[in-house]
Amino acid sequence: MKIQYLGTAAAEGWPGLFCRCEVCRCAREAGGKNIRTRSQALIDDAILMDFPPDTYLHMLRDGLPLPEIRTLLLTHSHQDHWYPEDLAFRGEGFSHDIDGILEIYGNDACAKRLEAILPIVGQGMMDAMRAHYNEVTAFSPFETQGYRVTPLKALHNRAENCLIYLIEKDGKSLLYANDTGLFPQETWEYLRGRKLDLVSMDCTMQQIPEGTNHMGLADNAELCRRLGEAGCTHESTKYVITHFSHNGGLLHEELEERARPLGFLTAYDGMTLSF
Ligand SMILES: [Zn+2]
Ligand SMILES: [Zn+2]
Ligand SMILES: [Zn+2]
Repeated sequence: MKIQYLGTAAAEGWPGLFCRCEVCRCAREAGGKNIRTRSQALIDDAILMDFPPDTYLHMLRDGLPLPEIRTLLLTHSHQDHWYPEDLAFRGEGFSHDIDGILEIYGNDACAKRLEAILPIVGQGMMDAMRAHYNEVTAFSPFETQGYRVTPLKALHNRAENCLIYLIEKDGKSLLYANDTGLFPQETWEYLRGRKLDLVSMDCTMQQIPEGTNHMGLADNAELCRRLGEAGCTHESTKYVITHFSHNGGLLHEELEERARPLGFLTAYDGMTLSF
């Protein structure tokens, strides 16, 4: 399996869209891995995780093969993860020679958010989108393109059923876990004894412990300890942190220095990892 991180920032990006704080100023000056766009990842060039407003940039900058993507998994409806207005441009007149249907999997809130763009884009664009929405619920696995995908409950916005995903194929497995704090009990129960080869974790808060909506490094360490206890990890399991907020205060290299002793890889925009 392969994962390509396209965006590794929290909602406002890093530097933040309108921010004048010190770490945003430093990130702007230093550039490189300190420039982080809104969260998105691509698995095996086939499964797209979330659809933020920076999806277009990821197509331009990282070669994200949008016309070829057939599966889109949505974690929740926060706009840094689901910006369906741009999906309307899949329709004829805006995109030519499009074949196949884009299968979208997400919760009820993301379905409502998709319906809400109707007054903005109009019925014609909605009908022409060539996308099919599949409403999914936690702990009900489904198959897509030869992958077994299981949505799990996240600990995030309490107003909706936020999801994280367990993705399995050919004996390999990936847990894609943002946005979330330390998992709810039902998710721990589901994961018990299931082998994970890569754990991709929310580290929004970096040096600040949080755990109830997002995580920081200390929460990530606790999460990994509990995954070990639950028999989910093994000696070759890889741990990656992502979805960083400037409020966490650490530029890429500083974050890497603190993450390395914990056994975590620090994601950056464009990072690709095979496992
Ligand atoms: Zn987010
Ligand atoms: Zn800032
Ligand atoms: Zn969120």
